[in-house]
Amino acid sequence: VARFPDAEIIAVGSELLTPARLDTNSLYLTEKLNALGLEVVRKSVVGDHRERLAGAIRGAMASAEVVIVTGGLGPTEDDVTRDAAAQALGRTQSFRQEIADWLANRFAKMGRNMAEINLRQANVIDGAEILPNPNGTAPGQWVEQDGRVVMLLPGPPRELRPMFETECLPRLRERCPKQIIQTLFYRIAGMGESDLDALIAPVYTRYTNPATTVLAAAGDIQVHLRARCEAAEEAGALLAEVGPAIEALLGDRIYSRNGDSLEVVVGKLLRDRRETLAAAESCTGGMLGERITTVPGSSEYFAGSLVTYTPRMKVEVLRVDPRLIAEHTAESEPVALAMAEGARQRAGSTYALSITGIAGPGGGREDVPPGTVFIGLAGPSGTEVKRFRFPGDRERVRGFAVQTALDLLRRSITRATSPMAWMQPR
Ligand code: ATP
Ligand code: MG
Repeated sequence: VARFPDAEIIAVGSELLTPARLDTNSLYLTEKLNALGLEVVRKSVVGDHRERLAGAIRGAMASAEVVIVTGGLGPTEDDVTRDAAAQALGRTQSFRQEIADWLANRFAKMGRNMAEINLRQANVIDGAEILPNPNGTAPGQWVEQDGRVVMLLPGPPRELRPMFETECLPRLRERCPKQIIQTLFYRIAGMGESDLDALIAPVYTRYTNPATTVLAAAGDIQVHLRARCEAAEEAGALLAEVGPAIEALLGDRIYSRNGDSLEVVVGKLLRDRRETLAAAESCTGGMLGERITTVPGSSEYFAGSLVTYTPRMKVEVLRVDPRLIAEHTAESEPVALAMAEGARQRAGSTYALSITGIAGPGGGREDVPPGTVFIGLAGPSGTEVKRFRFPGDRERVRGFAVQTALDLLRRSITRATSPMAWMQPR
């Protein structure tokens, strides 16, 4: 396999060194570079300081063949990227009348006066190619030196992205060996990251191609397989070797193979079957309803979520028997069960999910520590309740609860209808 150039990204701007602003350009660029087959070997954030930035660019050129600098191309005194790059490259800049004319024209069209300082943006490093900016005033620059390329791109994401896609990607592609990248993508629920890794690592660590990455959030894990080959058949064959081995280990814990979120997957299942869902939420305060309704068209299958936080609301709205609460407390299996059945009845839906528990950090009881959540699912074939203990702080516990509730419903629907249900691993 031929070698790809390494990339380094430098985000310029003193505001990016404060807690107020985050460098997101490098995340976007990394995604695009990775898709092309390039690896980002280092990235940094540098304030608006010419000497420091020139030093950073020199350092980047020493370690990577592709150097991308974003931001600091504006017209003001603190925009030092052009000067710093010229200094790092040991080149001078020249004033380009065609850029000045274009700038003047742009200002005139918007009915604004162009300040003298804007003419700084017409300075171009000698030997650089100009990258047009249809969405702003700062043109980008592409400079090659000693087999390396340095790109100067504007900071605002809405200017950077189109410029990178139309100007930089095609040029970069020419510098890369001809290779095919094929990927497999799984999303998995109902399992912790370390358990998942222990299960599938024996398979994927045997291969460097495809490369496997595991990304985890609360109750939601993504597994990516990336095969890089000279021919599509070869990449396909590699994925066909490793993918099914991983799928066999994960079984029905895989909920999506195309990137769909759990709420989208559950929505499709319900819509396909013309079934409906309602919910009753206590400790998640409406988060389940929020997740479900982010999907366009969810009104076709979602009746609504009743947020019943106090015992009184559980009794009045869901018609939970007050004696159940008195005997078992509101955070218990019997109450979760009654909540699910109450919501199903009130909504007249095919299914209803219920969530009640102790999100923490305080409020635990001896037998019910913080993080304990009871999830109920009422459906045509009865009602089930499960008790969980989720790790983490309040937000994580609530996130786990919602994800787990959606996954319980997904599994219940697919088990009920899959002829192979009996042989899928748990
Ligand atoms: P302008 O002509 O708009 O000044 P510029 O190239 O000088 O363009 P900056 O002044 O560095 O760009 O940044 C303008 C704005 O773009 C910043 O206030 C910030 O909102 C956004 N921005 C800059 N760099 C980044 C980054 N790395 N990630 C996300 N946003 C950024
Ligand atoms: Mg600026």
